[in-house]
Amino acid sequence: MLPDIENMLRLQEADKEIRRLQDEVAELPKRVAAIEQKLAGTKAQLEKAQAAIKADEATRRKYDTSINDLRGKISKYRDQSLDVKTNEQYKALLHEIQFAEKEIAATEDKILELMVNADARDKEIKAAQAELKAETAEIEKEKEQARQRTAEDEKLLAEWRAKRDQMRANINEDLLRQYERVSKFRGSGISEVRDHKCMACQVMLRPQTYNEVRSGNHAVVCDSCQRILYFNPADELVDQKPSTTRPKRHRPKIDAPQAWYYRSEFGETGEVYLCLTNAGAQASRRVYEIHTGRLIGDILIREGDYRQAFPEDITGAIRLNGEWREHELDAWGTELPMVVLDSLQADLDAARYEMTARASAKPEASAATVSPEQAAS
Ligand SMILES: [Zn+2]
Repeated sequence: MLPDIENMLRLQEADKEIRRLQDEVAELPKRVAAIEQKLAGTKAQLEKAQAAIKADEATRRKYDTSINDLRGKISKYRDQSLDVKTNEQYKALLHEIQFAEKEIAATEDKILELMVNADARDKEIKAAQAELKAETAEIEKEKEQARQRTAEDEKLLAEWRAKRDQMRANINEDLLRQYERVSKFRGSGISEVRDHKCMACQVMLRPQTYNEVRSGNHAVVCDSCQRILYFNPADELVDQKPSTTRPKRHRPKIDAPQAWYYRSEFGETGEVYLCLTNAGAQASRRVYEIHTGRLIGDILIREGDYRQAFPEDITGAIRLNGEWREHELDAWGTELPMVVLDSLQADLDAARYEMTARASAKPEASAATVSPEQAAS
């Protein structure tokens, strides 16, 4: 592995750690804010209960005043009753006195009610105060923890940033620029190649690109995602097997809703790729010329799944690996993108290789003329 690649892998680890720490530092104040909001809720409850008590006290004072007024009136009526001349006047005063006495009794009932309420409100306030005390203690603890955590994180961040600067100094400038540019947009700037694929974007590499990455002589960039590619022999056990020169080919899934086929002949066109897709109760067929990727003819739609709908196309064709979404197919329009063509071509090569290997391996049971490579495939 190139020293630059090794340095960049370490740099990527450092960048990841820095990002994690930054996220954590940003997250802590949000947690504290959430607890503070809860605390504010309890405070508001307490204030409401206290305000209610004050209101009750004011009402109580109003009642007391009105009782005093009524008593004043009664004594005034009594004084007047001493001076009345007629029976009617006396009765009228007596009536007034009775009325005022009734009112006093009613007001005294209301005061009693307030006193009962006051007990309940007292309890409410005590509970809210206790809750507030517990929450305040809790938030102080949380805040302290957040403060400590932030301080630790900041310290680690400073250390990692220093390390990162050192790492950057050891990487070729052009590569570093590429790494940082892609990292900024994709979150990582370097990607492992395994099984002929860029592990970050999952796109198959062209055979030549793959070989360049494997050789490790110079840095190579993924055509599809622009990440710098590297190859770790320890991860590519399949390729390491001395018995085979090719990675094992994935088997296409029998029941996949989309199937790609290769036909050596298709009408006047010659070699084509067929893309057959099931959608609901219908199947569609697209035909592409294999060298240019040009769409040939219209997209054909028939009833049933593609095995029932296009049996004549499948017979004698080579099934390939490949699965793309319907909207991608639509987006490509009348031409397959280069990455798709390359991926299909690589799989076709692998399929052909497999077929030859299998064909030559067959007589192995009767004759010992087969090399170990072929037998193992
Ligand atoms: Zn890629």
